[in-house]
Amino acid sequence: MTPPTTTLVEITGLRKSFGDNHVLQGIDLTVEQGEVVCVIGPSGSGKSTLLRCVNLLEYPNDGLVMVRGENIADLNNNLDEARRHIGMVFQQFNLFPHLPVLDNCTIAQMTVLRRERPEAERVARVNLERVGLGAKVTAYPAHLSGGQQQRVAIARALSMSPALMLFDEPTSALDPELVGEVLAVMRTLAEEGMTMLIVTHEMAFAREVADRVVFMDGGVIVEQGSPHEVISNPQQERTKTFLKRVL
Ligand code: ADP
Ligand code: MG
Repeated sequence: MTPPTTTLVEITGLRKSFGDNHVLQGIDLTVEQGEVVCVIGPSGSGKSTLLRCVNLLEYPNDGLVMVRGENIADLNNNLDEARRHIGMVFQQFNLFPHLPVLDNCTIAQMTVLRRERPEAERVARVNLERVGLGAKVTAYPAHLSGGQQQRVAIARALSMSPALMLFDEPTSALDPELVGEVLAVMRTLAEEGMTMLIVTHEMAFAREVADRVVFMDGGVIVEQGSPHEVISNPQQERTKTFLKRVL
């Protein structure tokens, strides 16, 4: 028997403009608990803006973004609460350069979640182990490779015990030889059942790890389905054209 699914993210009719630039033109998207959804599409199609609307880094002009049954627009005056259950990993790692790895992973736990330092450190160590950096707790970001820094950023996000992880092109800033170690961590998280919404250009990763692939172009979802449907057998011309360029 298949267990009942729980919808973690439910986006309906999402619109976002910057002046005359209508970046998101009515997005409907759901992410179920435990699902890995990869968003692909050309540069400028609105992928980052979509992700940023989910944790209120951008405020939608219209439509509804529900996370765990809560309309996140209602939480606009309490951004910490809106982001409480959402971890985000960006292309740029944005670690604090003046703090060692462990402290990078404890600060938000203490300020946002009000965890005591010993508990925050315990959680940080668990998650640094998870990303293979248990031996680097005292290192400073500048002494780590880009791949290691991005894994710290992932551990930092995981340390907030998120229900959902958002990734915006987490490997795009990395030298090619460092991409694999970050994707491997993400693959493990997927296997552990983490719910993830991932913008990526890594088609092999999307094909292998995604439960669902969403192709965006021009601020709309052009098509979505299993990796087999969207990447191997795209139905829409725009998807075919895009995939011809990137595969
Ligand atoms: P993608 O991630 O698919 O490359 P983005 O969501 O970053 O696309 O951007 C889509 C469009 O929105 C682009 O034309 C970009 O210039 C514009 N845009 C994104 N963020 C802003 C912003 N904060 N202010 C003005 N324009 C923006
Ligand atoms: Mg982007």
